[in-house]
Amino acid sequence: MQQAQGEISVVHNGKQVFYDVKISPLRNRKGKLNGQIVILRDITQRVLAQVQVQEALKNVQQLKEQLYKNSIHDALTGMYNRRYLDEVLPREIANAERSHSPISFVMMDIDHFKTINDTYGHAAGDMVLQKLSEFFKKHIRVGDLIFRYGGEEFLALLINTTIESALHFAERWQQSLPECCINIDGKEIKITISMGIAEFKKHGITSEEVLHAADRALYQAKSQGRNCITLWDVDQ
Ligand code: GH3
Ligand code: MG
Ligand code: MG
Repeated sequence: MQQAQGEISVVHNGKQVFYDVKISPLRNRKGKLNGQIVILRDITQRVLAQVQVQEALKNVQQLKEQLYKNSIHDALTGMYNRRYLDEVLPREIANAERSHSPISFVMMDIDHFKTINDTYGHAAGDMVLQKLSEFFKKHIRVGDLIFRYGGEEFLALLINTTIESALHFAERWQQSLPECCINIDGKEIKITISMGIAEFKKHGITSEEVLHAADRALYQAKSQGRNCITLWDVDQ
C-alpha cells in the first residue's frame, strides 16, 4: 500500500469544512501491513482565504475592464470617443496599408444644433445626441467604427470602403435620418446633418491628412447650404 494524500470537503453542523487527508501504511518491523494512519488537517481557513483572493482578483479584473470601457466611450451617448479613435486609427491604417484596402472617413456635423439648444433647452439637445447615437448603432455596418468627435460632430471610419461606396452609405443615413426625431412637449425636433468624405491614400497618406480632407469637405457641405454630402475634391 502506498501513501496517499488529498483534500476533502464535508458539511459539518451546517458549515462546509475542508480537510487535507494523508493516509500512510502502518507496518510492523517485518514490513507487514498492520493498518493505516489517517491524518486529517483542517485547512478550511486557507481554502476560504484562497477563495476570497480569487474573488478579489476577479473584481479587480472586472473593475479594470469597466474603467477601460468608460475611458473609450463618451458618457452622454455611449459612442466611442476620441481617445479610442487615437488608439484604433493607427491599427486600422496599418491594416489598410497591409491589405491594400481603402478606408473612408466620413466627418459629420449636426446642422444648426445651437438653435435646438436655444429653442428647446440643453437637455433636449442632449436627447438629440443620444437618439443620433442609437441611430448610428442601428445603421452602421459591423466592423465600421463611429466616434463622437466633438460636441455635435461625429466621425465614421468605413473599413474596406471606397469613397464612392461611402457616399452610398452616407446617402442612406441621410434618407433614414427622419426616424431620428425626438418629441418635446408634443413638438417634433428633426435634425439634418452635413457630411464630408475623404478616402485614405487618395486624399492623404497619413490619417491626419485624411481627417483634414474630410473636415474640409464637411466645411464645403456647410457652405453649400447644409444637409448635404460633399466628397473631398483635391482640386478644391
Ligand atoms: P452649424 O450648422 O454651422 O454646425 O451650426 P451649429 O449651431 O450646429 O454649430 P455651432 O458650432 O454654432 O454650435 C454647436 C453647439 O453644440 C454649441 C454647443 O453648445 C452645442 N453642444 C456641444 N456639445 C453639446 C452637448 O453635449 N449637449 C448639448 N445639448 N449641446 C452641445
Ligand atoms: Mg460643430
Ligand atoms: Mg453643427
